[in-house]
Amino acid sequence: MSNPSEGKEKDIPLAATISKPGSATEQKTGEWRSKRPQRDDSLCDKCGICWIFCPDAAIYINEDGYYEVDYDHCKGCGICARECPMGAIKMVDEGE
Ligand code: SF4
Ligand code: SF4
Repeated sequence: MSNPSEGKEKDIPLAATISKPGSATEQKTGEWRSKRPQRDDSLCDKCGICWIFCPDAAIYINEDGYYEVDYDHCKGCGICARECPMGAIKMVDEGE
């Protein structure tokens, strides 16, 4: 039996992101987002679980001790909202 893909490797398009080493913070990956997390301070107990679970390290502590979202790098995955034990984060449509 012949391989239907044989000889077609050259047809696969090359995809690449070109950037210099150590430049991850310069890439505004938040522009990919369709939903964004919104925190209700009255429900937040500052436990930091959202910060622990964010896969993009897009949460930081602000001067009031609350865990703030860096919207330049948050991709809107919703993990912080799912893991928040207080239900303090909800995902809203971008632009809302
Ligand atoms: S997980 Fe929820 S309660 Fe904990 S710091 Fe984050 S927003 Fe606040
Ligand atoms: S939505 Fe995802 S990327 Fe954005 S802050 Fe929450 S866990 Fe991080």
